[in-house]
Amino acid sequence: DVEPPVFTLETLTREIQEECLKCVQTMKTLQKKLELKSFLERILSPVFPGGSLHLCGSSSNGFGDESSDADFCFILTNLRQGNNRGEAMQVLRQMQRSLNNYPNNSFPNKCGVIPAKVPILKFKDMISGCECDININNTVGVRNTHLLRAYCGVDYRVQPLVMLVKRWAKKHDINDASQGTLSSYALTLMVIHYLQGVCKPAVVPVLQRQYPSVFRYIGDVSRLLSQDPCQHIACNQSENRQSLGELFVGFFKYYAVDFSWSDDYISIAMGAAYKRNLGQWKQNKKICIEEPFDGNNVTKAVCSLENFNKIKMKFRLAWHTLKISPSLESIKVT
Ligand code: ATP
Ligand code: MG
Repeated sequence: DVEPPVFTLETLTREIQEECLKCVQTMKTLQKKLELKSFLERILSPVFPGGSLHLCGSSSNGFGDESSDADFCFILTNLRQGNNRGEAMQVLRQMQRSLNNYPNNSFPNKCGVIPAKVPILKFKDMISGCECDININNTVGVRNTHLLRAYCGVDYRVQPLVMLVKRWAKKHDINDASQGTLSSYALTLMVIHYLQGVCKPAVVPVLQRQYPSVFRYIGDVSRLLSQDPCQHIACNQSENRQSLGELFVGFFKYYAVDFSWSDDYISIAMGAAYKRNLGQWKQNKKICIEEPFDGNNVTKAVCSLENFNKIKMKFRLAWHTLKISPSLESIKVT
């Protein structure tokens, strides 16, 4: 007779470590994305002199896996302020022509402009195999990538927790802003919020409060991603000794039981969740997570009650399952 597997917080910790190592973006994949970036720069620099291209999102914030897309931001300093969206669309169309017409390019399926609120150029690069996005002048994305990369490096537990929470959400169909659920970015902020002091003691500090000159810096973004933000941060002094397993289960418990989804908003800039009795937050009856640079709600996509309830239900289900059987398999992550 085979003994049934015994799951404990220790075995869960090991599972999380192993799973993270298995799926994290490899240096080879990053290298391919950087080569693609150089290739794009060669095409774009004669067309848009003075523009600069940045690899953002999970490809450079430390939370990317092997299947993560490549999010690029193209900064054009001479773009007129004001009618940003209209001008961004124009730039993207010109960019689309330049890329599609470039001889022997690696995007045989052609690039397409998606006229979303933040318009993007979308294509698949056949050499790296990556899905790619380029946006214009979304400097907030460059700043928050820099900030997230710092959170990723500040404590060894941040990266595996974020990566496994993203994996879990993807498996349960609640990680797709285009379908009205949570973006990876929103999920990442939810984990950081938990680690900033919902768990006691905190695992990570409130970096924007502790290092305002680095993480509230409002100058030129071009130099941000070329430097390692962790070089500015002192060694983490967290007294939290909880294991990955404990923190993972604690994360689900918080969002299943303690967090008030309809009344609170999360602010990682302030390091806490607050009651929504002010301004833009007051009207919203669904989840609110504040973008740490521009203050917008990053979960605006969650607008149907059906999706809102589905998300909350998934968190509750995960917590109840983990309580009884703390393993990734039981919540269908592996
Ligand atoms: P993955 O691609 O691995 O699923 P990601 O972090 O790249 O994860 P996205 O949610 O697609 O996931 O976001 C890409 C990047 O775009 C984020 O890292 C962030 O820099 C920026 N971003 C996304 N949503 C917002 C938002 N609402 N406000 C500001 N920046 C955002
Ligand atoms: Mg991405």
